[in-house]
Amino acid sequence: MKNSYIIANWKMNPNTLREAGNLVAGIAKNIRIIKNATVVIAPPSIYLYPLQNKVGKKIKLAAQDCHFESDGAHTGELSPRMLKNAGVAYVILGHSEQRTAGETSAEVNEKIKAVLKVGLIPIVCIGETKRDTEHQYLSFLETQVKETFSGIPLASFSKIFIAYEPLWAIGVEANREATPEESIEMVIFIKRVLADMYTTKVAESIRFLYGGSVHPENAHLFLIHGGVHGLLVGRDSLNLKKFTKIIEITNGLN
Ligand code: PEP
Repeated sequence: MKNSYIIANWKMNPNTLREAGNLVAGIAKNIRIIKNATVVIAPPSIYLYPLQNKVGKKIKLAAQDCHFESDGAHTGELSPRMLKNAGVAYVILGHSEQRTAGETSAEVNEKIKAVLKVGLIPIVCIGETKRDTEHQYLSFLETQVKETFSGIPLASFSKIFIAYEPLWAIGVEANREATPEESIEMVIFIKRVLADMYTTKVAESIRFLYGGSVHPENAHLFLIHGGVHGLLVGRDSLNLKKFTKIIEITNGLN
């Protein structure tokens, strides 16, 4: 049986711990019989500790970011070790909202190394800001991949998830959804860049996700035709009914 990964990125939602707890409890209840999907929830970090007791065995917790240093004078930041101690298993890194706010690929690279060092699993977001007919977005993406993944130990790639998230397909402002064909094309492209940097074996050992306007209506298309091992879900992960549906669809395909 195949296993797919459904990652919920809650971003800066919901406003209360009670709502967060209710949502997690609802998801945990709805997925009791799910066998072929790993569900990972990335809530705001303030909810990580209290949610530990609510997630049960079927849901894993993720952080939405971290610092690359292990301690020190970094006001407002959290270290990978702190997150591990809070029961976190995965960390989303290089999300487009962080990159837009100024995070560089070099910083994401440091964070990947720091996260791997303490045994957490990085979910690294990659994606072009816009598409152009001259295909400049391919060189943009190639540079982003090269800078983000330089100097990572070869054996670590099998632990890493790469989420292909084109910015133009994310959130309420999205121009349009990406197509599953665009997803698989970019997965192949990213693998080719990594195969040139490292080896084909390394490139093939990475697990890919698609993210950007995933809904119950299109989830199966990305999973079947998008060349990915799972989905990164934003808005619809905050809606119990829709998120449950996405998980059920995923489970049914495996
Ligand atoms: C995201 O921002 O990671 C995301 C996938 O958002 P949405 O699903 O809302 O487009």
